[in-house]
Amino acid sequence: MNAQIRSRRVEEPTLHSGKFKKSDLAPERAPARDIMRGAENKGEATMADLLPRLETLKGRKRVLWRRETARGGSFGFLVDAQVTKEEGRILLRFSNGIANTGRGPMEVGGDTNRETRRGGKRSMPAYQRVYQTEGPPREVFVGRMVFDPDPDHRHWHYAGFAEYNLYDASGTRRRRSRKQAFCLEDFDRMKKRARAEYPRCRPTKMGVSPGWADTYTWDLHGQQVDITTLPSGTYRLESVANPTRRLVEQSHAGNRATVRLQIDKAAGRVTIL
Ligand SMILES: [Zn+2]
Repeated sequence: MNAQIRSRRVEEPTLHSGKFKKSDLAPERAPARDIMRGAENKGEATMADLLPRLETLKGRKRVLWRRETARGGSFGFLVDAQVTKEEGRILLRFSNGIANTGRGPMEVGGDTNRETRRGGKRSMPAYQRVYQTEGPPREVFVGRMVFDPDPDHRHWHYAGFAEYNLYDASGTRRRRSRKQAFCLEDFDRMKKRARAEYPRCRPTKMGVSPGWADTYTWDLHGQQVDITTLPSGTYRLESVANPTRRLVEQSHAGNRATVRLQIDKAAGRVTIL
């Protein structure tokens, strides 16, 4: 098929476009003061932490409201996999949604004062802001934010938010995606009355609010594994959120989701088993 592959949209705040009601937006939190810039995160949590929990979605899920369509519906996560031919390559494409089912927001921001350029690549240290039951949030170093200069992006991504693997019938990993960089935002509302703290991603503040999911649909750049040289057959597609486990979470139990599928390259077809 002649897939028109999109890149992640860059939008103005949806508050003004009428997609968001003002009541949907949580008030701005007070800026954090006296934040201790932690050393390398070892995944430690404290009692006062309001932690997120990242759950990779699988199957057809009811979405109450999707930012792209400004309405709800039933959408496929991983199970909408399809085979496409693009520029001489054969790709397995699929949608990946990562929900925050935890008590606290999944928030990440870059330190713009410490931006570096290496070989034309702009990057900066990334910190997770862990909100507390009281007082300011604490910040935990979680890796890098990278700037994507592609005209369709032109914004900062948090590097290493998800990873995709494809295993063959014998359990051998045949493909591993690059660590997927995400510009985190509240895209799919999964729970009633969940407030969107992150209607769009910003370099210093991006994230996924409790009750929301950030979804990258199958037609977006990067939502694929290359199967050009793999034979047709039965495979297991795996999507892993927080693959480096640098992000502090309540639990890593829901990070991983897999689907079994039958790929028929000649017919350009994939069947979910
Ligand atoms: Zn982007």
